[in-house]
Amino acid sequence: MVTAHPLAPAWLAVPDDAGDLAPRVWPATARRDADGVLAVGGVRATELAERFGTPVLVLDEQDVRDRADRTRRAFSAAAERRGSAARVYYAGKAFLSVEVARWMTDAGLNVDVCSRGELETALAAGVAPDRIGFHGNNKSLSELERAIEVGVGTIIVDSAIEIERIGAITSRTGSAQRVLVRVRSGVHADTHDFLATAHEDQKFGFALDEAERAVERIRELPFVEFLGLHCHIGSQIFGVDGFRESASRVLELHARLLEGGPVPLMNLGGGFGIAYTRADDPAEIEALAEGIVDAVADECSARGIELPTLAFEPGRSIVGPAGITLYEVGTTKPVTVQAAGGSAERLYVAVDGGMSDNVRPALYGAQYSARIASRVSDADPALVRVVGMHCESGDIVVDNDFLPGDVAPGDLVAVAATGAYSAAMASNYNHVPRPPVVAVRDGRARVILRGETIDDLLARDAGLDAPVHHEGEE
Ligand SMILES: *Cc1c(COP(=O)(O)O)cnc(C)c1O
Repeated sequence: MVTAHPLAPAWLAVPDDAGDLAPRVWPATARRDADGVLAVGGVRATELAERFGTPVLVLDEQDVRDRADRTRRAFSAAAERRGSAARVYYAGKAFLSVEVARWMTDAGLNVDVCSRGELETALAAGVAPDRIGFHGNNKSLSELERAIEVGVGTIIVDSAIEIERIGAITSRTGSAQRVLVRVRSGVHADTHDFLATAHEDQKFGFALDEAERAVERIRELPFVEFLGLHCHIGSQIFGVDGFRESASRVLELHARLLEGGPVPLMNLGGGFGIAYTRADDPAEIEALAEGIVDAVADECSARGIELPTLAFEPGRSIVGPAGITLYEVGTTKPVTVQAAGGSAERLYVAVDGGMSDNVRPALYGAQYSARIASRVSDADPALVRVVGMHCESGDIVVDNDFLPGDVAPGDLVAVAATGAYSAAMASNYNHVPRPPVVAVRDGRARVILRGETIDDLLARDAGLDAPVHHEGEE
């Protein structure tokens, strides 16, 4: 029976069972044990909470590895069918740790980084430098020196100033450096739609009509090799249309650049969407890969040019769906709201984390899905808003979902699809220590990123080292 709740968004129907696990929303190995406890990677939520505390971010290791492997195979197969090849870079900004970087290289992926910290993490994990792509609109001179010194495979150049910096460093050291030139195609994609403009008003890359001059300059530099153009059109994209439009625009420039020398590569970025709720309907990665590669290949044959090697940079679609966050419920509070046709109730469920461990709802209004993880219940579903413990009314964890109406203090609540951009964007707001990240696989759990302690927070506070000085004293 599908009915509506007056406070629920149109996409959220009252479920028959507010404890079920929608297959694409939850990690591949998520299931309920006979007693109703949620288990991921064969490890029970109750055991995870006991061993590691809450909140805890739990990554289904096999799911991450399989997604990485599937993505690489999908793009390689699609490119090979059209007589070319594909490289997949994992966008480390989605979530990077030494372990995760190793899973990526095990699966044959390369790794993208966009800061000194991400670069050093990838190197510490043993990622071969030539498999690293280095991004950023404002790479410092010392970051560039370090990247060139260790021999990163490609630097994705973002400004004219950066080209001169790379030219100066490589002339001094005599080391060769391959670069891509990031362009703004004027196409910005988001979920099912894309918006195409002549000029995009944002900080990344070169406008298409400025990029030619940038490439000319790179081709004058003795130690710098131009590989091709780079374009990233957005995130959480479900269809191929935005990629097709963007590739078409970028290929026009690509074709002109071929007149001045080789252009062996084209990088189309990442942004493949995932299901945060059961209303999200992303295409399978194989279908996306085929659709995108075919669109680019068709465009190339229409122009009579060869299909270059293609590169892609997924982050979210590899780690996002494989992660869940476990919280413990502290308080619940029914709130009566005036709605069309009378008043209605929303149950606020407060948990022991929030915008410090997942800022996406506060930052982008992102939607998520929640379930009680420690038990099942046949209580009637209640419309809930899962909120955190921070001093902001926008501190929302899950804006809208249904949980069994008897949800109560002490219950564990799991939030799905938190593997990407939650731990990566975590903060210490309200002096809350950042939670651990735990990998689960085959019934075993291990910490891959240690949780912070109050001592970690106090260790940064320089006031403790300074001699105590009272006003008015000598
Ligand atoms: C963020 C980003 C990505 C990854 O985006 P996802 O949505 O995580 O796939 C890839 N490339 C660039 C340049 C990015 O900025």
